[in-house]
Amino acid sequence: MAEQLKAIKGMNDILPPESARWEWLESKVRALMARYGYQNVRTPIVEPTDLFVRGLGEVTDIVEKEMYSFEDSLNGDKLTLRPEGTAGVVRAINEHTFLYEGGKRLYYIGPMFRHERPQKGRYRQFHQVGAEAMGFHGPDVDAELILMVAALWKDLGIQIGSDVRLQLNSLGQPQERLAHRQALVQHFESHQDLLDDDARRRLHSNPLRILDTKNPAMQPVVESAPKLMDFLGEESLAHFDAVRSVLDAVGIPYEVNTRLVRGMDYYNLTVFEWVTDRLGAQGTVCGGGRYDGLIEQLGGKSAPAVGWGLGMERLLLLLQELGIEPPSAAPDAFAVVMAGAPLAAVLATVEGLRDRGVHVQLNPAGKDGPASPKSQFKKADASGAQYALVFGPDEVAAGQVSVKPLRGEGGQQTARPIADVASWADELKAYRRS
Ligand code: ATP
Ligand code: MG
Repeated sequence: MAEQLKAIKGMNDILPPESARWEWLESKVRALMARYGYQNVRTPIVEPTDLFVRGLGEVTDIVEKEMYSFEDSLNGDKLTLRPEGTAGVVRAINEHTFLYEGGKRLYYIGPMFRHERPQKGRYRQFHQVGAEAMGFHGPDVDAELILMVAALWKDLGIQIGSDVRLQLNSLGQPQERLAHRQALVQHFESHQDLLDDDARRRLHSNPLRILDTKNPAMQPVVESAPKLMDFLGEESLAHFDAVRSVLDAVGIPYEVNTRLVRGMDYYNLTVFEWVTDRLGAQGTVCGGGRYDGLIEQLGGKSAPAVGWGLGMERLLLLLQELGIEPPSAAPDAFAVVMAGAPLAAVLATVEGLRDRGVHVQLNPAGKDGPASPKSQFKKADASGAQYALVFGPDEVAAGQVSVKPLRGEGGQQTARPIADVASWADELKAYRRS
């Protein structure tokens, strides 16, 4: 046998029945976006490396150690598999002067790539849903974006408070961060001995990043660090309060976490994360915030923006953890074909039903004709179908098919005319769960 090839470590295949959970989640997301007026954008998976270096910040986990970067061997261009979605969307709206007529609300769904150590909830190819509102100063839009995620939790049956919690912070404006930065450097310098290598390296390049550490040993020194919140001016505080008051008015509980900084440098003012205790260390399901400087920083005309990214694998793990499953994808009917039944008539009938929206599964015949009725009924039952459509040679000759209920509440077995499927097709859909 030829040698088998394997998928790349940390990059997963998504096969049925698992793929049905993905499609279900995606349909919930698309319905959510429609409700809030967010339009779909699709940008390339490969972008110039520079986009992420300039966009996310050189001293970030992603740019320092997680990017899949390579040289295009055909022309020497430096390319990167996108590690996140925002930078590419900003590049696209700049390139197409897309904010020319005013603000835009956009969303994307797609794969992202980070060279991390694969583990539960952390992969090298993973998928994000992201929403971005560009050209709006907020804070109403900041609140809207947070409320959208809360609405998604509700749509999926996830409880806010017990299953997921909202953490909120404000990173203020660059000049406010500068004053905080000095205090931060002073604090960490006076505790040099408590810093790990990463922190020491970042002390003078990007001390705010130190607050984002995942090293438990660093927690005390991070805990006692000066809080950015104490350095915010009136305007920044007013923005933060406005976001909070919308959340209060709608009744979405949150915790102010003054240490929440997020992993990218582009954020200012509002930042937030939706976290869960049910996925161990991979507890952040969704994170986002305002990034008013990024559009200009990437060469566009200055415009404010705010958005979030949600990890779909983590959300699906959480749903599984909570026992939340999509409705059954079972067919409405399963066609059982007896030996001798004319296949053309069977297929024409099945096609007529499908044409009317009935989900019909048909067991393909083998080399020697149809499988035994017993084996076909077993498959019909396993398919979860409500009905079996039994095509026997005599019945088909008489222009009929038997509709046999396979589980409770399906009514009596009846013979139906195959020449007039329109008169009974809808009955087959009556037990479908959606
Ligand atoms: P973490 O702190 O867990 O590394 P992050 O801050 O790097 O997450 P973001 O860059 O904010 O994550 O991405 C948004 C969301 O994408 C995360 O909250 C998470 O749900 C998901 N995510 C990020 N990295 C991965 C990954 N390697 N595998 C699976 N999901 C991921
Ligand atoms: Mg990360």
